[in-house]
This record gives sequence, C-alpha cells and structure tokens, in this order.
Amino acid sequence: MKNADVIVIGAGASGLMAAYTLSKAGKTVIVLEARDRIGGRIHTISDESFFKHAELGAEFVHGNLPVTLHLLKKAGIEYISAEGEMWHYNNGKLAKGAWDIEGWDKVMEKLSHLDHDVSIGNFLQDNFSGDKYEALRNAVSRYVSGYDTADPFSASSFALREEWENEDEGAQYRVTGGYGKLIDFLANDSKTNGAAILLNAVVKEVRWGNGRPEVLTADGKKYGAGKLVVALPLGVLNRGAIIFQPGIDAHENALKQIGFGAIVKLLFQFKERFWETGEAANLGFVLSAEEIPTWWTQYPTHSAVITGWLGGPPAECRKHLSDVDFLRSGIRSLANIFKRKPADLENELVSWKVVNWTTDSFTCGSYAYDMVNSSAARKTLEEPVDDMIYFAGEYLYEGAAMGTVEAALSSGLNAARKLE
Ligand SMILES: Cc1cc2nc3c(=O)[nH]c(=O)nc-3n(C[C@H](O)[C@H](O)[C@H](O)COP(=O)(O)OP(=O)(O)OC[C@H]3O[C@@H](n4cnc5c(N)ncnc54)[C@H](O)[C@@H]3O)c2cc1C
Repeated sequence: MKNADVIVIGAGASGLMAAYTLSKAGKTVIVLEARDRIGGRIHTISDESFFKHAELGAEFVHGNLPVTLHLLKKAGIEYISAEGEMWHYNNGKLAKGAWDIEGWDKVMEKLSHLDHDVSIGNFLQDNFSGDKYEALRNAVSRYVSGYDTADPFSASSFALREEWENEDEGAQYRVTGGYGKLIDFLANDSKTNGAAILLNAVVKEVRWGNGRPEVLTADGKKYGAGKLVVALPLGVLNRGAIIFQPGIDAHENALKQIGFGAIVKLLFQFKERFWETGEAANLGFVLSAEEIPTWWTQYPTHSAVITGWLGGPPAECRKHLSDVDFLRSGIRSLANIFKRKPADLENELVSWKVVNWTTDSFTCGSYAYDMVNSSAARKTLEEPVDDMIYFAGEYLYEGAAMGTVEAALSSGLNAARKLE
C-alpha cells in the first residue's frame, strides 16, 4: 500500500490546487485521477490541423477573478479580452444587442419582495401564471437553462435574484494557449514539490473507520493517508460512484441539496467565417430559441470555429442522442440563424466535435447551481468528516463565481489551508 500525508481524489482544478498548495507546504501528496489525463472539466486540445487550442470544457475567465488571475500571473500565462458583440435571433431576425426579455422588470420587482425561497419555476407559476405570461415564463426559464445550466424547478429564486441584481457585464477573458496551461502549471509545480499524480486510478471506496483513511481503486490498489481531499464533481458523488465505509450520511445528504446542471457543447470548424458579414463583423455571442440556442465565435481571434451550447433540462432530456444527431441539430440551428441551407453548411464543415459532459461518467453534468437549501448544505460540507475527509470542488463556493474555475481553485485552496 502506498502512503502519503494527504491523498487528493480528482485532478481537476480544485484537486490540483489543493495538491499544489499542500506540496508547497511540505506535505507528501498522492493525487488519484480516474481519467488518462488531468484537468477534469478543463480540457484544452491543441492540434494545428483541427481546432487550434480548442476548449472542450471551461473557456472563459468570467471577470477579474482574483485566484485565477493571480495564478495566471504567477505562471506567466497571458490572457486576452473575449468581448465580442452580443446578438440575438428572434422571430426570424438576427439583430444586434442582448435579447431583452419583455416583462423582466416585473419579474425583478416581484422577486425583490419575495420573503421565502422557492424554485424560480414555482415563483413564475405563482406570480406570472396564465397564457398572458407564457412567453415571459419561457424566456426566463430559457435563460436559467442556458446560462446556469439549471433546472428552473430546482434553482433557488434567492440565488438567482442575487445573481441578476449584481450582474456584471464587465470583463471576460480567454487564456492564451488554453486553460490547460494553468492545469499543467499546477501539476508540474506539484510534481516538482514531490507530489505523485496517478492517472487511470478510478477510486471506488474510502474506508476511514480505523482513524486513518484508506482509498481503494477499481484495479484493486490501496492507498493510505492521514487526510483525504475529495475533489470530485457533484454529479459523480451524487450517483454514489464512491462508497464511504462507514457511511457519511450528513455530508451525503448535504451533497444532494446542491443542484448540478446538464450541458452539451458543440464545436464546429467551417471553411470560412460565414457569420462575419455586414454589420456582424464583430459578432461574439448569439442567443436564440433554436434547438441549439446559444452560439459564440472566437472573436477577437478570427477563427472559423463556432461553438454551440445546450444547457439545463433540454440537454438533460436529449443527452442520449448520438453525436451525429447533435451535429444535425447544430447545423439546422445555424442554418436558421444565418439564413443558410443546411446542406451548404454541411459541405463547408471542416471538422466538428460534440462534447457531452452530461453522459461522461467522470463528470455527469455541467456545474453546480444553488437550490433552496444549498447555502446550509455548503456549511455542512465545509466541515471535514472526523477531521479526516475534506471536500473540495466548484460547488463549494459562496459568491457570484459559483460553478467556475475560480470557484474550483478557491475551494481547493481553502481545503488545503485547513490541512496545512
Ligand atoms: C462545458 C463546460 C464549460 C464550462 N465553461 C466554463 C467557463 O467558460 N469558465 C469557467 O470558469 N468555468 C467553466 N466551466 C466550469 C469549470 O470547468 C468547472 O467549474 C471546474 O473546471 C471544475 O473543477 P473541479 O476540480 O471542481 O472538478 P473537475 O474538473 O470535474 O475535476 C474532478 C476530477 O475528478 C475526476 N474523477 C471523477 N470520478 C473519479 C473517481 N471515481 N476516481 C478518481 N477521479 C475521479 C475527474 O476525472 C476529474 O478530473 C465549464 C464546465 C463545462 C462542463
């Protein structure tokens, strides 16, 4: 059995941040990662003939986020502004500007008086019922599904009110060379400080009854440590992929009080940037109600790659479609939005990729969102089990950047500081 001061389960942003911090503080660390690569929901592929530096998972730094930007600076990794124009496609017309939701002010007004938390779906049914408000209910639900990748009938109205009242239209960046560079920096520095990062190590069981945690992997190997950092996606934990012996009921119940969304991401590379015509030369994002509703370009980089995004219940419902079905949905959506023939677009397609994170068994979804009791659940999860088992991950973060790389890095850092 291999031993260390700390075992970290999961080599995503949160697990690697914990390993980086702990190994720097002189702890011996073993990281156990199920896949044959590190990074988890950060997955940059670099292929000169295909999408150069394409992000299959996380892509943007959503604002001036302190932990991410500090690390990028420390690692000497550059980042560039990713602010393209917002466009929307509605009633058969592609138009510049955000897609204003008619009646949004009324929703915000009613939300401001809400004194007990309910799901946003229930809030809309209670306050905006009937045919008159159907379009408004649909538009708000589409927004919650698309941006938060959340189920409106689970997502907390209080959390969304907080998010919408403090919406920051400000800075947004892309990491030059891809987010994977940040992951490589954390991993390489951890290894320099003596950490071992073991790939293809699928953890199945954690035994902790004897005062010292033991971790068992699918290939029958055993690892022992004084402390354990569980840095796994919420979707993986909630499907019971790991058995804790003895059970950790309070923590497992708390995990179920936080929402975890669904996402399918599509990357299409065409011969030409057909979307860059006339007024749309600086097009960044397009919102629509098409089968694949949200699209964005690589603006200001002039690349012939366009990315599609299907989140929330529509992604959950359609998660078992084949990649080719998603390809066709994507082509139909783009053809409608940009007034092209689907067959022509198919002919102009050079390469494509469908990244279905929702059926990926080492992720099982997108990222976390708040349900009605999530804040209290996070307080439980911030406490270790018997001073031995610590949790980390993007879902353990209070604030506007929940669900992001920033949240994952911050959570890994917090877990490590408790152990240092
Ligand atoms: C499509 C998509 C787009 C996104 N876009 C953005 C964005 O633009 N900006 C942003 O800030 N955030 C974005 N996010 C969110 C961001 O990627 C995540 O919040 C963050 O990367 C999560 O890090 P983590 O360490 O918590 O989890 P993960 O990165 O999921 O890491 C968990 C690790 O655990 C491993 N694992 C799973 N099961 C086992 C097991 N049994 N044994 C051992 N290891 C296991 C996984 O393989 C994985 O490596 C996006 C997410 C997705 C899915």
